[in-house]
Amino acid sequence: ETKVRVWPYPVVEVPGWTHVSQGKVRDLYVNDEDDSLLLVVASDRISAYDYVLDTPIPDKGKILTQLSAWWFEQLGVENHVVSLDVPEVVAGRAMICRRLSMYPVECVARGYLTGSGLKEYRESQSVCGVSLPAGLTEASVLPEPIFTPAAKAEVGEHDENVSFERVVEMVGPEVAESLRAATLEVYSKAAAIAAERGIILADTKFEFGHIDGRLILGDEVLTPDSSRFWPADQWVEGQVTPSFDKQYVRDWLVSDGAGWDRQSTPPALPAEVVEATRARYVEAFEKLTGRVFQA
Ligand code: ATP
Ligand code: MG
Repeated sequence: ETKVRVWPYPVVEVPGWTHVSQGKVRDLYVNDEDDSLLLVVASDRISAYDYVLDTPIPDKGKILTQLSAWWFEQLGVENHVVSLDVPEVVAGRAMICRRLSMYPVECVARGYLTGSGLKEYRESQSVCGVSLPAGLTEASVLPEPIFTPAAKAEVGEHDENVSFERVVEMVGPEVAESLRAATLEVYSKAAAIAAERGIILADTKFEFGHIDGRLILGDEVLTPDSSRFWPADQWVEGQVTPSFDKQYVRDWLVSDGAGWDRQSTPPALPAEVVEATRARYVEAFEKLTGRVFQA
């Protein structure tokens, strides 16, 4: 059963570029003159519980693109960005990138225990095969950040947490080691930058690809869609921390008010949920970058 709708989303015509694929949130285009160049366009679509919702969040695509671009600059690691100077129809919400051969691994780093990591820990005292000390709980800080990869799922399916050994089977030992090292390195850099701004980077997901075997950071990075950001002053071990991510939308969807069974297409979001969610994306952008978001 396919939950995620792919293709019904209107595809914006971009002069000079040919649309090649549509993900839950982003559309990819290839340059008509140079097929090593990719245009990554972030839409205002929002996904939750593996569904793409019918209600867009105004400016979300711009916020994610600009936040991601800011992080790529800060991180100083080799990445796929070529230019933010994009055709007018997608201004602010797109990046021209080098087309990479992507590794089919969602490279997750966790510095704190929550979500699916906590669930696994409670079953096995480990996450993705990484053993952890006893006695950890919701929002516990880990002794050191860990690499907890997931295998990229088919459209509509949930990404599956896998062990490091499984990654070795998928991409070979050298690449697996490089992915782990790069993931933990970028996580640590980003977590330090976020900490200076009073934000905890609890966990995050990267996607890497390569050109001729050279590892390059791709996709979006360190946005509320790919990361859990927590206000440091609200973090309490043992308690669920209110985050800047789309938890707000998830909470509304499973509330009595939404009346949703989680088996069918989710209901439209009420205007106040849309506005509150947009405000959270803007707040994350402004807190992290120290810049005012301009639509
Ligand atoms: P899926 O990844 O299965 O298509 P998704 O919902 O995660 O689903 P989006 O995040 O909306 O998809 O789209 C971004 C897609 O572009 C991802 O598949 C990602 O792996 C891919 N991608 C990102 N950067 C690059 C790049 N530089 N070269 C090639 N592919 C890339
Ligand atoms: Mg994605």
